Amino acid sequence: MTWPGEFTFCPRCGSRLGRRHIDGRDRAVCPDCGYIHFRNPAVGAAAVVVDTGRILLVRRSPRVSRSGLWSIPAGFVEYGEDVREAAARELREETGLEATIGEVLQVASNFHDPEKLTVGVWFQATVTGGHLAAGDDADAVGYFSEIPPLAFETDRALLERLIAR
Ligand SMILES: [Zn+2]
Repeated sequence: MTWPGEFTFCPRCGSRLGRRHIDGRDRAVCPDCGYIHFRNPAVGAAAVVVDTGRILLVRRSPRVSRSGLWSIPAGFVEYGEDVREAAARELREETGLEATIGEVLQVASNFHDPEKLTVGVWFQATVTGGHLAAGDDADAVGYFSEIPPLAFETDRALLERLIAR
C-alpha cells in the first residue's frame, strides 16, 4: 500500500523518484543517485504529569491540527536529540514547567495522521520548577480530574489505564 505524502523528488539530488520493490515493500527509489526512501514513523515523546490525582493537559492551538482539543504535552524528537530530553523540552515549551523524566508509561503507534505516522513514548514526569503557562503549540494548560475532549486515542488509552490504577 502507498501512504499519502510520499516524496515526488529525490531529497538528496532532486531527480524524480521511481518505485521499486525492496525488502518486501514498494519504495521510492532515485534512478540517478540510488537513494532509497525507507519511510519510517517519526518518534514522539510525551510527558505525563500527575498531581494529586489530576493530569496535566494542554489545549492544541489554532495553528496545529485538532485545535481546541486537549492532549498530554508531547512533540517530535529532533534528529540528534535524546528521547527523554525531547519529553522534557516539549513539556517546558508547552507548559512552562521543568521536570525530571522518569519511567515509560506507554509505547504506542499513532495512525491518526496517515501522512505522518509516529511511535509515541509516554514518560512519567515529576515537576521540579517553572511557572505554569501555555506556550508553543498550546494555547491553554491545566490540571484535570475529569478528562476533557481529547485529540488522540492513544492519550485516552493511557489516561483510562492510569485512572483504573
Ligand atoms: Zn537522487
